[in-house]
Amino acid sequence: MAPPRAYQCEAVTLKKFPLGEADLLVTLYTRERGKVRALARGARRSNSKLMGHFEPLTQVKLSLAQGRDLDHVVQAQVVSGFALLKGDLGAIAKGLYVAELVDGFGSESNPNQPLYRLVIEALHAIEAAPESDLPLRFFELHLLQVSGLMPELYRCVECRQTLTPGRHRFSPNLGGALCLDCNPTDARLRPLSLRTLKVLRLLHRTPIAELPALSMDAALARELKALLSTTIQYWLDKEIRSNSFLEHVHHVAGTEV
Ligand SMILES: [Zn+2]
Repeated sequence: MAPPRAYQCEAVTLKKFPLGEADLLVTLYTRERGKVRALARGARRSNSKLMGHFEPLTQVKLSLAQGRDLDHVVQAQVVSGFALLKGDLGAIAKGLYVAELVDGFGSESNPNQPLYRLVIEALHAIEAAPESDLPLRFFELHLLQVSGLMPELYRCVECRQTLTPGRHRFSPNLGGALCLDCNPTDARLRPLSLRTLKVLRLLHRTPIAELPALSMDAALARELKALLSTTIQYWLDKEIRSNSFLEHVHHVAGTEV
């Protein structure tokens, strides 16, 4: 019988699930293969070499062996444990929200290196500015982009006219901004202020490490968050459970997301 085929990859752990007495079933987002579910045998034993390598939001280098049903972890080396992020409850909630969206949008048979890079960049940005919500908004918009779902921000999606400065509307299901003259019957319209449109364009064209420290008032932050999460939920077509967790953490902390 041929030995199991081995392969190397770099990955971030999205979630883990205890299996049997000491094993872990882990969901990874890998740079090379997209989403991979793998078995880490004995990883819950305190003397295991794999112990602690598969906490969610840990970046690892891995050797895996292909199995008939599940791939098995052979070796693991931590690249970044995001220790600072994991020391802050609000930042953990944000990181788990990122992980859940990657689990939802990532595909098991379709590697997406821009998505992998985006996850790592977003986790570093959350770690660097745990109080700011801008890294999450950046992540949401760019998640849509690397998934081929980038909303139109420059022209009306219906009449294709260039948007002039002013108030507009936004339709998640029609794929972006609309001018005030267009009223397609199947659009799930929501308001789009000029301020929110400008922040969306800034998030789209600015690398995450170069984002300025924008001070957004509560109304602007709320509109931006609602627009992006409505769009994400429309595409994901299911409730984002960790988003509720995020709301809960911010509620407990007495701050607004
Ligand atoms: Zn129009």
